Amino acid sequence: MALTKADLTQARTQMVEWQLRRREISDRRVLEAFLEVPRHEFVLPEHVAEAYEDHPLPIGEGQTISQPYMVAVMTEALRLQEEEKVLEVGTGSGYQTAILAWLARHVYTIEKYASLNARAQENLRRLEIRNVTCLVGDGSQGYQEAAPYEGILVTAAAPRVPQMLSDQLAEGGRLVIPVGEIYSQELLLVEKHEGRLSQKTINYCRFVPLTGKYGWGGNQVN
Ligand code: SAM
Repeated sequence: MALTKADLTQARTQMVEWQLRRREISDRRVLEAFLEVPRHEFVLPEHVAEAYEDHPLPIGEGQTISQPYMVAVMTEALRLQEEEKVLEVGTGSGYQTAILAWLARHVYTIEKYASLNARAQENLRRLEIRNVTCLVGDGSQGYQEAAPYEGILVTAAAPRVPQMLSDQLAEGGRLVIPVGEIYSQELLLVEKHEGRLSQKTINYCRFVPLTGKYGWGGNQVN
């Protein structure tokens, strides 16, 4: 039987309570964003019934929409203010993009697969989310044209922090990125103060690889 809008809203409310609030996601604006953004609009039609479950889901091209809790941990770590500008590397379904767009002034997001970029753009357009610029390309190099950014979020795992990304951070800016081996990484928070970078580990995670020039792919992005 097809899920109703009320069923999906209830599933989203429960997701926020059980998967986020009870696991110590406490930022009020972040929790509001997760209540507002309909995750089921970003999953493939065959996965709508699982949209609010506690795990990643396939979105095509061998990629995934991340577990809601992991999206929340990364978002909270960015400490976004509403006047700030963000760069997201790895658009995927556009779900994390929509959460960031709810919290910040403008989001630039880069995806290596044109097919995923097109679907994410369609998802964002349908929800009338307009403060986003979607780009196709190698996000491991960032997007110098709109730099510097108060927040940079990388949603794929890198072998090390790409210097091109830390160079694109504004003074006081925050970069959240999974770094490590192909199958296990540390989620790092890198901050820039007086031009100097400091870094700390937020937790441990497993993401799909960041390809491209400053990822695992050399000059190969796909
Ligand atoms: N946050 C996304 C969401 O909410 O659906 C999930 C992102 S998925 C875990 C990681 C994404 O990073 C994939 O869509 C992948 O194609 C993309 N990616 C990997 N390397 C990239 C690169 N060098 N440039 C841009 N995108 C890249």
